[in-house]
Amino acid sequence: MIPALMPTYNRADLAFERGEGAWLYTADGRRFLDFGSGIATASVGHANKHLADAIAAQVHKVMHVSNLYRIPQAELLAQRLVDATFADSVFFCNSGAEANEGMVKMIRRAAYETGHPDRYRMITFEGAFHGRTLGMLAATGNEKYLKGFGPRVDGFDQVPFNNLNAVRDAIGPHTAGIMVEAVQGEGGIRRGSIDFLRGLRGTCDEFGLALGLDEVQCGMGRTGKLFAFEWAGIVPDVVTTAKGLGGGFPIGAILAREHMAKYLVAGTHGTTFGGNPLACTAANAVLDILLAPGFLDEVVRKGEVLAAALADLVADFPAVFEEARGIGLIRGLKCAVPAGDVQAAFIAEGLLSVTAGENVVRLVPPLVITDADIAEAMARMYRGAARCLPSAGKDAAQ
Ligand SMILES: *Cc1c(COP(=O)(O)O)cnc(C)c1O
Repeated sequence: MIPALMPTYNRADLAFERGEGAWLYTADGRRFLDFGSGIATASVGHANKHLADAIAAQVHKVMHVSNLYRIPQAELLAQRLVDATFADSVFFCNSGAEANEGMVKMIRRAAYETGHPDRYRMITFEGAFHGRTLGMLAATGNEKYLKGFGPRVDGFDQVPFNNLNAVRDAIGPHTAGIMVEAVQGEGGIRRGSIDFLRGLRGTCDEFGLALGLDEVQCGMGRTGKLFAFEWAGIVPDVVTTAKGLGGGFPIGAILAREHMAKYLVAGTHGTTFGGNPLACTAANAVLDILLAPGFLDEVVRKGEVLAAALADLVADFPAVFEEARGIGLIRGLKCAVPAGDVQAAFIAEGLLSVTAGENVVRLVPPLVITDADIAEAMARMYRGAARCLPSAGKDAAQ
């Protein structure tokens, strides 16, 4: 019989009762170092006091009023994001996919309003992940996810990642913009090269296209900059973010420059829950932490500590790992054995991770992780890697 909770996920048989920082605890007292962060979402760690107190205080005042009224928490959050970035204006929603849908709508509408009603297509990339709505499935272009869900939503042309010539070849009379992850998360922690991202900006300028970045996963400090595109020194037209923004509370955002945002006038786009007082209070508390002086520099430093340790791990276990990759605190181990086996071995050693494309184990700890936590995680990864050696199977069977 089907479980009451619809079985759309193959869940690990673990249920966590509480957390603290980078640690999660099961009801029976086992503890796990969380290098998955609920898929790069628990950015300020579990049970973060500042975040929890802010949410609790707001819950006792008012959670939701709708966008029919002014929402001071949303106005403040938007202003802080504008002050911290390229953006002139911000729209709040509830998830990454919803943010991306809104970004594509904005780009199409801007083309329409500027004398190009025939421009509606977006160029997207192999290995991308943009979400699970009908539109974002088409943008993602993964046949496995599209199968059986009817005709693919029209308007997305997919080309190889990190290949500017392929992008330029794909531009046609109906192209409105480019949609790209600065670092592909689900795709296997693949970085868009600095040259590639700069090339995309130049190409968009040359052809009059909008550059839209999906920073749902790699944004909000994960790479050591508030947004990953900043490493390339480019100015995008629109950026989406979500996962880390609420530190576990659901909220997404579309950040845009005025020349794009001004076309989503009243009535063109909306959301019931998006940007409500509670969600924005959570995101404001997260920003208090992320924007504190020195915080992002610490993400860079800890990312380098982790990278050096992962490089040693790969060198010590060539039969298990092919490569360590990533930037900041979004890292991947490309595996020589099935990534799912490595993930399971890590769980057996009390470490949580997430698999990704290209047979990669994804490591995305809370940004507040300590050096001691990183050292402990590495010890667990070494023990987990040893379990994956071809000879380990015999020992384990004994
Ligand atoms: C997770 C993710 C999404 C989808 O976000 P949801 O909140 O699950 O809708 C979109 N883009 C990227 C890059 C993601 O990592």
